[in-house]
Amino acid sequence: MLIVKKFGGSSVANKERVFNVARRIVEDYKEGHQVVVVLSAQGDTTDLLLEKAREINKNPSRREMDMFLSTGEQQSVALMAMALQSIGYPAISLNAYQVGMHTSSVYSNARLKRIDQERIMSELERNNIILVTGFQGINRYEDITTLGRGGSDTTAVALAAALKADRCEIYTDVEGVYTADPRVVPNARKLDEITYDEMLELASLGAKVLHNRSVELAKKYGVELVVRSSLSQAEGTIVKEECKMEKMLVSGVAADKNVARIAVIGIKDEPGKAFELFSLLAKKNINVDIILQSIGRGRSKDISFTTSRDNLEEALSIIHENLERISGERVEYDEQVAKVSVVGAGMASNSGVASLMFEALFDANINIKMISTSEIKISVLINEKDTEEAMNAIHESFKLFK
Ligand code: ADP
Ligand code: ASP
Ligand code: MG
Repeated sequence: MLIVKKFGGSSVANKERVFNVARRIVEDYKEGHQVVVVLSAQGDTTDLLLEKAREINKNPSRREMDMFLSTGEQQSVALMAMALQSIGYPAISLNAYQVGMHTSSVYSNARLKRIDQERIMSELERNNIILVTGFQGINRYEDITTLGRGGSDTTAVALAAALKADRCEIYTDVEGVYTADPRVVPNARKLDEITYDEMLELASLGAKVLHNRSVELAKKYGVELVVRSSLSQAEGTIVKEECKMEKMLVSGVAADKNVARIAVIGIKDEPGKAFELFSLLAKKNINVDIILQSIGRGRSKDISFTTSRDNLEEALSIIHENLERISGERVEYDEQVAKVSVVGAGMASNSGVASLMFEALFDANINIKMISTSEIKISVLINEKDTEEAMNAIHESFKLFK
């Protein structure tokens, strides 16, 4: 069997953890399997590198940032190869350039396009355990790119798809995918299985246990994933196309704090203004999420929307520069907000979910600022300080625990 195993940063955070992972890798190798391992940077290395870069330059070039951030993963794979060699196993570390992990050219948020197989296959034939850097790629200029925060999951799934691996296991610091972040909602329950679609929504809405693009790729190439703990033998959660078990109304609650709300007040109530506003933002690749337009008062209306906090400054400066063109009077914004969502395939055919969610928030005296819904999710925008309380209240009301 060919097995791809991915270990996140906390699983390799220190010497003991590195050897713990080394032993888990060896278990499969000793049974005669071919093992390709993807590693993240140790502990909070990536955060520390980010801080360090910002001490030098508050607005660093994205190319140099990727060059810098990718070093964390390179340390992990080399250290793991040393650990494996020290306990008597043949291992080799490879970075994105050595493997040939080709991505789009967008620094800091690149997409994997193609993975070369030659080097990996030849190292497997030499019976090596292979350690591949997560998170990084190379673009057509032969520059290092990164796949976005949490992107090592995507490296692992893409490798599993390219190599047609028999198993793809994602090891992390919790025992699987839960009905909510178990660190925030103590009553959260581990799911035995979850569909790609539900997992994709949860990941996109802030459940960082899997990178959302890893789930997208897993669905596209039919890679069944197992999410489990590197620190216990518990079975974990299977992520796949269809689930046997009865569809639950709601499969999870997620929160995202990387959100900001912008409101453009006093826009002329005539055709084409929303188009003006959002096409200006789209041209600068600024993604907009929830949009709300007020009913016109007299001859004007307000349009408010959310975007990620990282984009706030850029979005505000674009709007200020073009305020006349959009015909707005003024701009307001709020950074202290968060988006809390419920996700569930069973929701499509049940109309009671929204009111249950709103009732839970009302009971907790939490004000809703915006609402958005789709077939299998409902999201609300609330004050950031209420996030944890909202998650617990909503989780409780859906009886997501046993
Ligand atoms: P890794 O370093 O292994 O990639 P991450 O920190 O990226 O780990 O993701 C694991 C974390 O995701 C957990 O520690 C947990 O706090 C958080 N998390 C958020 N939502 C969920 C969820 N629904 N189920 C499990 N974990 C979740
Ligand atoms: N080290 C990277 C990050 O912290 C990638 C990852 O952990 O998946 O975002
Ligand atoms: Mg992660």
